[in-house]
Amino acid sequence: MYVIFFGPPGVGKGTQAVIIADRKGWAHISTGDMLRAHVANGTDLGLKAKEYMDKGLLTPDDLVIDMFLHRLAELRPDQGFVLDGFPRTLPQAQALDAALAKQQKSIDIAINIHGSDDVLMERMLNRAKDSGRTDDTPEAIRTRLEVQKPPVELLGHYRDAGKLKDVDGLPEIEVVTESLLKVLEGVGK
Ligand code: ADP
Repeated sequence: MYVIFFGPPGVGKGTQAVIIADRKGWAHISTGDMLRAHVANGTDLGLKAKEYMDKGLLTPDDLVIDMFLHRLAELRPDQGFVLDGFPRTLPQAQALDAALAKQQKSIDIAINIHGSDDVLMERMLNRAKDSGRTDDTPEAIRTRLEVQKPPVELLGHYRDAGKLKDVDGLPEIEVVTESLLKVLEGVGK
């Protein structure tokens, strides 16, 4: 199954994506993790992306799309995946659709994990204490919360296709996992 997790920064999509991918034997693709690895390795892409990441801004589409499509091409044809942090813009969603369509495939379900700003802010400030992330300054966190919620046109793209579901990201981790598993069962694949 091909699954996307949407949600604002701090809502726990990364945590849940790791758990669900493990349970289902799917690949977990996190563009945030991939970009941080590029930064850590000092690649050209990492140097470019770091400027945006440290400010809490989105990294430009062309850089992220190219990196993502290379990762997608590495998957075994029969392997499911959960995407965490991609697509974040409509052009990214279109690039994803086009890449899957070439293999007569498509996204099965997009789950929008939501939560209130004050809780998300608090969670991210807490995580910042030991995350080691250079984009976990209070300013960058505030910017991420302002500019990185899934845009309406992106959610609309999947809602119009009848593929968007909502899950509350505020309860305990195990409760959110159960809600996600239930939604995935409903997809019937
Ligand atoms: P968070 O944990 O705050 O949700 P991520 O780990 O997903 O953040 O991403 C960290 C940073 O990486 C973002 O602030 C952004 O600069 C960059 N990034 C990750 N994925 C994308 C994407 N799909 N498009 C643009 N920028 C991205």
